[in-house]
Amino acid sequence: MMGNLPSSYRLVPTMEQADIMVLNSCSFIKAAEDETIETLEELAVWRTDNRRIILTGCYVEQEKEALLERFPFIDGILGTGGLTELSNLIESSLRNERLFIHPPRSENMIGQNQRKLSTPQHYAYLKIAEGCNHACSFCKIPALRGSAVYKPPETILAEAKSLINQGVKELILVAQDTTAYEGRLGYQLADLLRDLETLEGLLWIRVLYAYPTKIDDDLIKVFNESKKIVAYLDMPIQHCNDTILKTMKRHGSKVDIENTIQRLRNGVSGIKLRTTLLVGFPGETQEHVDELAQFMKNFRFDHTGIFTYSPEAGTAAATLKGQVTGTDKQSRFDQLMLLQQSISRSLNEQYVGQSLPIMIDDLDGGRRTFDAPEIDGHVHVDNVKKADIGQIRSVHITKALDYDLVGHIT
Ligand code: SF4
Repeated sequence: MMGNLPSSYRLVPTMEQADIMVLNSCSFIKAAEDETIETLEELAVWRTDNRRIILTGCYVEQEKEALLERFPFIDGILGTGGLTELSNLIESSLRNERLFIHPPRSENMIGQNQRKLSTPQHYAYLKIAEGCNHACSFCKIPALRGSAVYKPPETILAEAKSLINQGVKELILVAQDTTAYEGRLGYQLADLLRDLETLEGLLWIRVLYAYPTKIDDDLIKVFNESKKIVAYLDMPIQHCNDTILKTMKRHGSKVDIENTIQRLRNGVSGIKLRTTLLVGFPGETQEHVDELAQFMKNFRFDHTGIFTYSPEAGTAAATLKGQVTGTDKQSRFDQLMLLQQSISRSLNEQYVGQSLPIMIDDLDGGRRTFDAPEIDGHVHVDNVKKADIGQIRSVHITKALDYDLVGHIT
Protein backbone atom coordinates (compact mmCIF):
# COMPACT_ATOMS: atom_id res chain seq x y z
CA MET A 1 0.00 0.00 0.00
CA MET A 2 2.84 2.39 0.83
CA GLY A 3 4.55 1.60 -2.47
CA ASN A 4 1.38 2.34 -4.43
CA LEU A 5 0.90 5.84 -3.02
CA PRO A 6 1.71 8.71 -5.41
CA SER A 7 5.05 10.40 -4.81
CA SER A 8 3.24 13.57 -3.71
CA TYR A 9 2.46 11.76 -0.46
CA ARG A 10 5.11 11.84 2.22
CA LEU A 11 5.42 9.22 4.94
CA VAL A 12 6.07 10.74 8.37
CA PRO A 13 7.27 9.01 11.51
CA THR A 14 4.87 10.43 14.12
CA MET A 15 1.11 10.88 14.49
CA GLU A 16 1.60 14.57 15.27
CA GLN A 17 3.18 15.20 11.87
CA ALA A 18 0.50 13.31 9.93
CA ASP A 19 -2.61 14.58 8.15
CA ILE A 20 -3.80 11.13 7.19
CA MET A 21 -3.59 7.99 9.27
CA VAL A 22 -3.97 4.54 7.72
CA LEU A 23 -4.64 1.85 10.27
CA ASN A 24 -3.86 -1.62 8.94
CA SER A 25 -5.85 -3.73 11.39
CA CYS A 26 -5.69 -7.29 12.64
CA SER A 27 -8.55 -9.45 13.90
CA PHE A 28 -6.95 -12.89 13.97
CA ILE A 29 -7.92 -13.41 17.61
CA LYS A 30 -10.02 -11.45 20.09
CA ALA A 31 -6.93 -9.84 21.66
CA ALA A 32 -5.90 -8.43 18.26
CA GLU A 33 -9.41 -7.13 17.67
CA ASP A 34 -9.39 -5.40 21.06
CA GLU A 35 -6.07 -3.79 20.15
CA THR A 36 -7.52 -2.54 16.86
CA ILE A 37 -10.49 -1.00 18.68
CA GLU A 38 -8.23 0.60 21.31
CA THR A 39 -6.08 2.12 18.56
CA LEU A 40 -9.17 3.43 16.79
CA GLU A 41 -10.27 5.08 20.02
CA GLU A 42 -6.86 6.76 20.29
CA LEU A 43 -7.23 7.96 16.71
CA ALA A 44 -10.66 9.44 17.49
CA VAL A 45 -8.89 11.85 19.84
CA TRP A 46 -6.21 12.60 17.21
CA ARG A 47 -8.80 13.34 14.47
CA THR A 48 -9.51 17.02 13.71
CA ASP A 49 -11.27 18.75 10.78
CA ASN A 50 -8.00 18.64 8.84
CA ARG A 51 -7.08 15.07 9.60
CA ARG A 52 -8.40 11.84 8.07
CA ILE A 53 -8.52 8.23 9.25
CA ILE A 54 -8.54 5.28 6.85
CA LEU A 55 -9.12 1.76 8.17
CA THR A 56 -7.96 -1.34 6.31
CA GLY A 57 -6.86 -4.92 7.07
CA CYS A 58 -8.59 -7.99 8.48
CA TYR A 59 -10.88 -6.15 10.89
CA VAL A 60 -12.49 -4.64 7.78
CA GLU A 61 -12.93 -8.11 6.26
CA GLN A 62 -14.70 -9.19 9.40
CA GLU A 63 -17.01 -6.24 10.11
CA LYS A 64 -17.24 -4.64 6.64
CA GLU A 65 -19.19 -1.40 6.08
CA ALA A 66 -20.88 -1.69 9.52
CA LEU A 67 -17.69 -0.05 10.78
CA LEU A 68 -18.66 3.28 9.16
CA GLU A 69 -21.64 3.44 11.46
CA ARG A 70 -19.91 2.03 14.51
CA PHE A 71 -16.97 4.44 14.26
CA PRO A 72 -18.39 7.71 12.87
CA PHE A 73 -14.97 9.38 12.98
CA ILE A 74 -13.49 6.99 10.35
CA ASP A 75 -13.22 8.67 6.93
CA GLY A 76 -12.83 5.65 4.68
CA ILE A 77 -12.68 1.87 4.78
CA LEU A 78 -10.65 -0.35 2.48
CA GLY A 79 -10.88 -4.15 2.09
CA THR A 80 -7.70 -6.23 1.87
CA GLY A 81 -8.21 -6.65 -1.89
CA GLY A 82 -7.76 -2.93 -2.49
CA LEU A 83 -4.02 -2.36 -2.28
CA THR A 84 -4.08 0.05 -5.23
CA GLU A 85 -7.20 1.91 -4.09
CA LEU A 86 -5.71 3.64 -1.09
CA SER A 87 -4.94 6.97 -2.76
CA ASN A 88 -8.47 7.11 -4.30
CA LEU A 89 -9.96 6.53 -0.89
CA ILE A 90 -7.78 9.22 0.67
CA GLU A 91 -8.74 11.71 -2.07
CA SER A 92 -12.43 10.96 -1.47
CA SER A 93 -12.03 11.41 2.26
CA LEU A 94 -10.45 14.84 1.65
CA ARG A 95 -13.65 15.75 -0.26
CA ASN A 96 -15.55 14.58 2.84
CA GLU A 97 -16.92 11.50 1.07
CA ARG A 98 -16.95 8.52 3.38
CA LEU A 99 -16.45 5.39 1.27
CA PHE A 100 -16.26 1.65 1.80
CA ILE A 101 -14.13 0.11 -0.97
CA HIS A 102 -14.03 -3.66 -1.09
CA PRO A 103 -12.66 -5.09 -4.38
CA PRO A 104 -12.50 -8.86 -4.94
CA ARG A 105 -9.71 -10.47 -2.95
CA SER A 106 -7.85 -11.97 -5.91
CA GLU A 107 -6.86 -8.48 -6.96
CA ASN A 108 -4.74 -8.05 -3.87
CA MET A 109 -2.07 -10.20 -5.46
CA ILE A 110 -1.13 -7.61 -8.06
CA GLY A 111 2.54 -6.83 -8.62
CA GLN A 112 4.29 -4.92 -5.90
CA ASN A 113 7.33 -3.65 -7.73
CA GLN A 114 7.00 -0.29 -6.01
CA ARG A 115 7.71 -1.63 -2.55
CA LYS A 116 8.51 0.93 0.14
CA LEU A 117 10.35 -0.77 2.97
CA SER A 118 9.10 -0.67 6.53
CA THR A 119 11.92 -2.96 7.69
CA PRO A 120 15.62 -2.05 7.98
CA GLN A 121 17.10 -1.66 4.51
CA HIS A 122 18.90 -5.02 4.44
CA TYR A 123 15.95 -7.39 4.83
CA ALA A 124 12.39 -7.57 3.58
CA TYR A 125 9.38 -9.83 3.76
CA LEU A 126 8.14 -11.08 0.42
CA LYS A 127 4.59 -12.36 0.28
CA ILE A 128 4.20 -15.15 -2.27
CA ALA A 129 0.54 -16.02 -1.72
CA GLU A 130 -2.54 -14.76 0.05
CA GLY A 131 -5.32 -16.79 1.68
CA CYS A 132 -5.42 -20.40 2.78
CA ASN A 133 -7.03 -23.63 1.55
CA HIS A 134 -6.70 -25.43 4.88
CA ALA A 135 -9.49 -25.45 7.41
CA CYS A 136 -7.83 -25.62 10.84
CA SER A 137 -10.77 -25.57 13.22
CA PHE A 138 -9.28 -22.85 15.46
CA CYS A 139 -8.43 -20.41 12.69
CA LYS A 140 -10.45 -17.70 11.04
CA ILE A 141 -7.86 -16.69 8.45
CA PRO A 142 -9.56 -18.57 5.57
CA ALA A 143 -12.78 -16.68 6.41
CA LEU A 144 -10.94 -13.35 6.52
CA ARG A 145 -8.47 -13.81 3.67
CA GLY A 146 -10.28 -16.30 1.45
CA SER A 147 -8.85 -19.29 -0.34
CA ALA A 148 -5.26 -19.23 -1.57
CA VAL A 149 -4.21 -17.04 -4.48
CA TYR A 150 -0.60 -17.40 -5.64
CA LYS A 151 1.47 -14.51 -6.87
CA PRO A 152 2.90 -15.35 -10.32
CA PRO A 153 6.62 -16.28 -10.32
CA GLU A 154 7.58 -13.41 -12.64
CA THR A 155 5.87 -10.92 -10.31
CA ILE A 156 7.69 -12.33 -7.30
CA LEU A 157 11.04 -12.26 -9.09
CA ALA A 158 10.50 -8.68 -10.25
CA GLU A 159 9.54 -7.67 -6.72
CA ALA A 160 12.61 -9.47 -5.34
CA LYS A 161 14.88 -7.67 -7.83
CA SER A 162 13.42 -4.30 -6.95
CA LEU A 163 13.98 -5.04 -3.26
CA ILE A 164 17.59 -6.07 -3.92
CA ASN A 165 18.07 -2.80 -5.82
CA GLN A 166 16.91 -1.01 -2.68
CA GLY A 167 19.66 -2.73 -0.68
CA VAL A 168 17.86 -5.84 0.56
CA LYS A 169 20.20 -8.77 1.19
CA GLU A 170 17.84 -11.12 2.99
CA LEU A 171 14.42 -12.08 1.69
CA ILE A 172 11.91 -13.68 4.01
CA LEU A 173 9.22 -15.56 2.12
CA VAL A 174 5.81 -15.48 3.75
CA ALA A 175 2.27 -16.70 3.05
CA GLN A 176 -0.33 -18.41 5.19
CA ASP A 177 1.21 -21.65 3.89
CA THR A 178 4.36 -21.12 1.81
CA THR A 179 4.61 -24.84 0.98
CA ALA A 180 1.24 -24.71 -0.82
CA TYR A 181 2.72 -22.30 -3.40
CA GLU A 182 1.88 -23.10 -7.00
CA GLY A 183 2.73 -20.12 -9.20
CA ARG A 184 1.61 -21.98 -12.33
CA LEU A 185 0.94 -25.60 -13.13
CA GLY A 186 3.83 -27.67 -11.76
CA TYR A 187 5.81 -24.64 -10.49
CA GLN A 188 6.10 -24.96 -6.75
CA LEU A 189 8.01 -23.46 -3.84
CA ALA A 190 11.18 -25.42 -4.70
CA ASP A 191 11.10 -24.00 -8.25
CA LEU A 192 10.60 -20.48 -6.95
CA LEU A 193 13.53 -20.91 -4.54
CA ARG A 194 15.75 -22.11 -7.38
CA ASP A 195 14.86 -18.99 -9.37
CA LEU A 196 15.36 -16.64 -6.42
CA GLU A 197 18.75 -18.22 -5.80
CA THR A 198 19.98 -16.89 -9.15
CA LEU A 199 19.40 -13.24 -8.18
CA GLU A 200 22.63 -11.39 -7.71
CA GLY A 201 23.10 -9.37 -4.56
CA LEU A 202 20.87 -11.62 -2.49
CA LEU A 203 22.69 -13.31 0.40
CA TRP A 204 20.05 -15.06 2.47
CA ILE A 205 16.63 -16.50 1.62
CA ARG A 206 14.44 -17.57 4.52
CA VAL A 207 11.19 -19.50 4.41
CA LEU A 208 8.50 -19.08 7.06
CA TYR A 209 5.15 -20.89 7.58
CA ALA A 210 5.76 -24.31 6.06
CA TYR A 211 3.04 -26.94 6.49
CA PRO A 212 4.54 -30.24 7.75
CA THR A 213 2.77 -32.55 5.31
CA LYS A 214 3.76 -30.41 2.30
CA ILE A 215 7.52 -30.73 2.71
CA ASP A 216 8.52 -32.95 -0.18
CA ASP A 217 11.86 -34.37 -1.29
CA ASP A 218 12.38 -31.70 -3.94
CA LEU A 219 12.05 -28.95 -1.34
CA ILE A 220 14.51 -30.73 0.95
CA LYS A 221 16.90 -31.09 -1.98
CA VAL A 222 16.80 -27.42 -2.90
CA PHE A 223 17.35 -26.42 0.74
CA ASN A 224 20.36 -28.70 0.96
CA GLU A 225 21.91 -27.64 -2.35
CA SER A 226 21.35 -23.91 -2.02
CA LYS A 227 24.07 -21.47 -1.03
CA LYS A 228 21.53 -18.78 -0.19
CA ILE A 229 18.54 -20.50 1.41
CA VAL A 230 19.43 -20.53 5.08
CA ALA A 231 19.32 -23.93 6.77
CA TYR A 232 16.33 -22.91 8.83
CA LEU A 233 12.66 -23.71 8.48
CA ASP A 234 9.67 -22.37 10.35
CA MET A 235 7.16 -25.21 10.41
CA PRO A 236 4.18 -24.71 12.75
CA ILE A 237 2.94 -28.09 14.01
CA GLN A 238 0.44 -26.75 16.62
CA HIS A 239 0.35 -30.04 18.58
CA CYS A 240 1.59 -33.63 18.47
CA ASN A 241 -1.28 -35.58 19.99
CA ASP A 242 -3.24 -37.40 17.29
CA THR A 243 -6.68 -36.76 18.81
CA ILE A 244 -5.98 -33.05 19.19
CA LEU A 245 -4.48 -32.82 15.68
CA LYS A 246 -7.60 -34.46 14.30
CA THR A 247 -9.97 -32.14 16.16
CA MET A 248 -7.84 -29.22 15.01
CA LYS A 249 -8.41 -30.53 11.47
CA ARG A 250 -4.69 -30.54 10.83
CA HIS A 251 -3.39 -32.82 8.08
CA GLY A 252 -1.07 -35.61 9.11
CA SER A 253 -0.45 -37.48 12.34
CA LYS A 254 2.20 -37.39 15.04
CA VAL A 255 4.20 -40.02 13.14
CA ASP A 256 3.98 -37.92 9.97
CA ILE A 257 5.36 -34.90 11.83
CA GLU A 258 8.15 -37.00 13.35
CA ASN A 259 9.05 -38.35 9.92
CA THR A 260 9.10 -34.86 8.42
CA ILE A 261 11.45 -33.62 11.13
CA GLN A 262 13.75 -36.59 10.56
CA ARG A 263 13.67 -36.15 6.78
CA LEU A 264 14.57 -32.48 7.17
CA ARG A 265 17.35 -33.21 9.63
CA ASN A 266 18.75 -36.03 7.50
CA GLY A 267 18.33 -34.19 4.22
CA VAL A 268 19.48 -30.64 4.98
CA SER A 269 22.89 -30.31 6.52
CA GLY A 270 22.74 -28.44 9.84
CA ILE A 271 19.09 -27.40 9.49
CA LYS A 272 17.52 -25.59 12.45
CA LEU A 273 13.80 -25.70 13.05
CA ARG A 274 11.27 -23.31 14.45
CA THR A 275 7.75 -24.38 15.34
CA THR A 276 4.56 -23.03 16.87
CA LEU A 277 2.42 -24.82 19.44
CA LEU A 278 -1.11 -24.15 20.58
CA VAL A 279 -2.10 -25.19 24.12
CA GLY A 280 -5.48 -25.26 25.80
CA PHE A 281 -7.37 -26.42 22.70
CA PRO A 282 -10.83 -27.89 23.52
CA GLY A 283 -10.52 -31.46 24.80
CA GLU A 284 -6.84 -31.11 25.68
CA THR A 285 -5.91 -32.78 28.96
CA GLN A 286 -2.79 -32.52 31.10
CA GLU A 287 -1.72 -35.89 29.62
CA HIS A 288 -1.83 -34.38 26.13
CA VAL A 289 0.36 -31.50 27.33
CA ASP A 290 2.81 -33.92 28.93
CA GLU A 291 2.95 -35.79 25.62
CA LEU A 292 3.73 -32.49 23.90
CA ALA A 293 6.45 -31.75 26.47
CA GLN A 294 8.02 -35.16 25.79
CA PHE A 295 7.87 -34.44 22.06
CA MET A 296 9.68 -31.14 22.64
CA LYS A 297 12.34 -32.92 24.69
CA ASN A 298 12.78 -35.54 21.97
CA PHE A 299 13.06 -33.14 19.06
CA ARG A 300 14.54 -30.06 20.72
CA PHE A 301 13.33 -27.39 18.31
CA ASP A 302 15.76 -24.50 18.08
CA HIS A 303 12.89 -22.06 18.45
CA THR A 304 9.33 -22.63 19.63
CA GLY A 305 6.50 -20.12 19.82
CA ILE A 306 3.79 -21.17 22.28
CA PHE A 307 0.28 -19.72 22.23
CA THR A 308 -2.84 -20.28 24.29
CA TYR A 309 -6.00 -21.19 22.41
CA SER A 310 -8.52 -18.41 21.91
CA PRO A 311 -12.08 -19.42 20.92
CA GLU A 312 -12.99 -17.30 17.92
CA ALA A 313 -16.57 -16.70 16.84
CA GLY A 314 -17.28 -18.38 13.52
CA THR A 315 -14.63 -21.10 13.89
CA ALA A 316 -15.56 -24.75 14.35
CA ALA A 317 -13.49 -25.14 17.52
CA ALA A 318 -15.24 -22.32 19.37
CA THR A 319 -18.36 -24.44 19.86
CA LEU A 320 -16.59 -27.68 20.78
CA LYS A 321 -17.20 -29.26 24.16
CA GLY A 322 -14.33 -29.46 26.63
CA GLN A 323 -13.17 -25.84 26.53
CA VAL A 324 -10.17 -25.43 28.83
CA THR A 325 -10.24 -22.88 31.66
CA GLY A 326 -8.07 -19.77 31.48
CA THR A 327 -6.05 -20.92 34.49
CA ASP A 328 -5.28 -24.29 32.93
CA LYS A 329 -4.31 -22.69 29.62
CA GLN A 330 -1.91 -20.40 31.43
CA SER A 331 -0.30 -23.19 33.47
CA ARG A 332 0.16 -25.34 30.34
CA PHE A 333 1.68 -22.36 28.55
CA ASP A 334 4.03 -21.74 31.51
CA GLN A 335 5.04 -25.41 31.63
CA LEU A 336 6.03 -25.52 27.95
CA MET A 337 7.63 -22.08 27.93
CA LEU A 338 9.85 -23.07 30.84
CA LEU A 339 10.81 -26.28 29.06
CA GLN A 340 11.65 -24.48 25.80
CA GLN A 341 13.67 -21.94 27.76
CA SER A 342 15.93 -24.70 29.10
CA ILE A 343 16.18 -26.37 25.65
CA SER A 344 17.08 -23.05 24.06
CA ARG A 345 19.67 -22.32 26.76
CA SER A 346 21.40 -25.66 26.34
CA LEU A 347 21.37 -25.37 22.53
CA ASN A 348 22.82 -21.86 22.81
CA GLU A 349 25.63 -23.00 25.10
CA GLN A 350 27.16 -25.11 22.31
CA TYR A 351 27.97 -21.91 20.37
CA VAL A 352 30.18 -20.37 23.06
CA GLY A 353 33.73 -20.24 21.72
CA GLN A 354 32.60 -20.57 18.08
CA SER A 355 32.64 -17.90 15.37
CA LEU A 356 29.33 -17.57 13.50
CA PRO A 357 28.24 -15.52 10.48
CA ILE A 358 25.93 -12.87 11.87
CA MET A 359 23.70 -10.52 9.85
CA ILE A 360 24.26 -7.24 11.69
CA ASP A 361 20.86 -5.57 12.14
CA ASP A 362 21.73 -2.58 14.30
CA LEU A 363 24.33 -1.18 16.68
CA ASP A 364 23.35 -3.78 19.28
CA GLY A 365 24.08 -6.80 17.07
CA GLY A 366 22.25 -9.15 14.75
CA ARG A 367 21.09 -12.64 13.89
CA ARG A 368 22.44 -16.07 13.08
CA THR A 369 21.32 -17.78 9.85
CA PHE A 370 18.67 -19.51 11.94
CA ASP A 371 17.18 -16.46 13.61
CA ALA A 372 14.28 -14.74 11.87
CA PRO A 373 13.89 -11.04 12.73
CA GLU A 374 11.71 -10.19 15.74
CA ILE A 375 10.71 -13.76 16.59
CA ASP A 376 13.94 -15.70 17.19
CA GLY A 377 17.18 -15.04 19.03
CA HIS A 378 19.49 -12.05 18.86
CA VAL A 379 23.25 -11.92 19.12
CA HIS A 380 24.38 -8.92 21.17
CA VAL A 381 27.64 -7.69 19.68
CA ASP A 382 29.80 -5.26 21.66
CA ASN A 383 31.84 -3.72 18.82
CA VAL A 384 29.40 -2.97 15.98
CA LYS A 385 30.27 0.04 13.83
CA LYS A 386 27.74 1.82 11.64
CA ALA A 387 29.35 0.37 8.51
CA ASP A 388 28.69 -3.17 9.79
CA ILE A 389 24.90 -2.72 9.69
CA GLY A 390 23.38 -4.76 6.90
CA GLN A 391 26.58 -6.82 6.48
CA ILE A 392 27.35 -10.39 7.46
CA ARG A 393 30.22 -10.41 9.97
CA SER A 394 32.05 -13.20 11.71
CA VAL A 395 31.17 -12.95 15.40
CA HIS A 396 33.03 -14.81 18.13
CA ILE A 397 30.47 -15.98 20.71
CA THR A 398 31.50 -15.36 24.31
CA LYS A 399 28.34 -16.01 26.30
CA ALA A 400 25.00 -17.83 26.02
CA LEU A 401 21.75 -16.47 27.43
CA ASP A 402 18.37 -18.24 27.44
CA TYR A 403 17.40 -17.09 23.95
CA ASP A 404 20.22 -14.75 22.93
CA LEU A 405 23.99 -14.86 22.62
CA VAL A 406 26.75 -12.35 23.30
CA GLY A 407 29.87 -11.89 21.18
CA HIS A 408 32.17 -9.58 19.26
CA ILE A 409 33.16 -9.12 15.63
CA THR A 410 36.54 -10.68 14.94
S1 SF4 B 1 -2.86 -23.43 7.77
FE1 SF4 B 1 -2.56 -21.60 9.05
S2 SF4 B 1 -3.77 -19.98 8.07
FE2 SF4 B 1 -4.44 -21.92 7.16
S3 SF4 B 1 -6.26 -22.49 8.38
FE3 SF4 B 1 -4.47 -23.51 9.31
S4 SF4 B 1 -3.70 -22.10 10.92
FE4 SF4 B 1 -5.12 -20.95 9.56
